[in-house]
Amino acid sequence: MAEIPRRPLGVNVMKYLVVGAGFSGATFARLKAEQGHSVRVIEQRDHVAGNAYDSQKMGEPMVHRYGPHLFHTNSERVYKFLSRFTEWYEYRHRVRARVLGRVVPLPFNFLSIELCFSGRRPDEIKTAMREVFKDNQRVTLRELKAQESPHLNKTLYDFVYENIFENYTQKMWGMDLEKLGPTVADRVPLIAGYDDSYFTDRFQCMPAWGYTQLVKSMLDHENIEVVTGMRWRENGREYDRMYFTGSIDDYFGHYLGHLEYRSMSFELKSLATGELRDEKGTATMNLPDHPKVTRYSDMAVITKFPGENTVVVVETPGPYVPGVNEPYYPIPTGEARAMYHRYEKLAEDTEVGMRVRFGGRLGSYQYLNMDQAVAQAMKAAEEF
Ligand SMILES: Cc1cc2nc3c(=O)[nH]c(=O)nc-3n(C[C@H](O)[C@H](O)[C@H](O)COP(=O)(O)OP(=O)(O)OC[C@H]3O[C@@H](n4cnc5c(N)ncnc54)[C@H](O)[C@@H]3O)c2cc1C
Repeated sequence: MAEIPRRPLGVNVMKYLVVGAGFSGATFARLKAEQGHSVRVIEQRDHVAGNAYDSQKMGEPMVHRYGPHLFHTNSERVYKFLSRFTEWYEYRHRVRARVLGRVVPLPFNFLSIELCFSGRRPDEIKTAMREVFKDNQRVTLRELKAQESPHLNKTLYDFVYENIFENYTQKMWGMDLEKLGPTVADRVPLIAGYDDSYFTDRFQCMPAWGYTQLVKSMLDHENIEVVTGMRWRENGREYDRMYFTGSIDDYFGHYLGHLEYRSMSFELKSLATGELRDEKGTATMNLPDHPKVTRYSDMAVITKFPGENTVVVVETPGPYVPGVNEPYYPIPTGEARAMYHRYEKLAEDTEVGMRVRFGGRLGSYQYLNMDQAVAQAMKAAEEF
């Protein structure tokens, strides 16, 4: 006999539709189900977990199909919530960049300075850094430019701008750094010391059985029905409320125009572990001066895979073409944000705002890490 779903007493049961089964949709669905509501999740891809999707072939490490995903957060609340659905392994992400033929730590730190300025008095630059910044302080490009010392605002700034940021940004976004908001460059600061950790968050770890398994566990609840391979097209009137984690312009049939996104192609290369180990243990290698590729990542290092083989994920950004490729990154410019706000206003001014909440990386049109997507969906599940 089919089990009767459990409902907390006194709950006015509502029917929710969640569009998208990434971290945002799964978090919202789980919390609504636990509140006793009935939830249907539809996902256009043939799998759950959104861009964090991972899978594994025999004899190879777990592979992040849409680029490497490293979990890091300062939010104990998010960490505790996700820990209900997975165990973790410790993981500290480290990145290197190939700059003018040398492999140097990124964020650009004192070792990077020594390697890039060898024979050009690196000690003077490090001393100037020590005079104004605390040991291992993270310093944005803007802060560096604002310093009085020419060792910092000229020698170091020019080098880092030209060799790390300029071409990389142009490739990544298809536009100059000046056109983009300051947050883009702030994401990769320099370090006034030898620390080479990429993230500084309190919790840095990876789910023991991968992200897909984590998301599947979140969605495994008697009040949740999941349908994959289904794109949202209906108006959803048979549901009381909807949490929509697809693109907001898609929801409105591009009524106010197309929001711009940047896309990415991910090439997966299976290799024997020996083949790529000139930079031993490097998880991610950034290639600022490569004409097309931004970076590649070694999945055996990221997943601590002990076998003989690895899979390398090579990332090449490009323009988003609707119907041809996927929208990955909302464009962080004022104009693009302004169009998003017009869509938000459209939702507020119509009855859509009463029934639909937009969330996640696409629905709120902003770069969100996984922990931020979870935190945002937790808040939405409390309020809506
Ligand atoms: C290359 C790359 C690297 C990243 N690295 C990290 C990292 O290291 N650490 C980190 O914390 N975060 C990382 N992120 C961010 C992370 O992917 C997001 O934070 C996370 O995916 C957000 O989850 P989401 O549910 O909001 O969106 P998504 O994961 O994009 O999920 C949205 C889902 O909605 C579905 N959908 C959209 N429209 C429709 C529709 N009309 N009908 C049905 N389904 C629909 C999509 O198919 C998708 O599966 C990275 C992102 C990218 C692209």
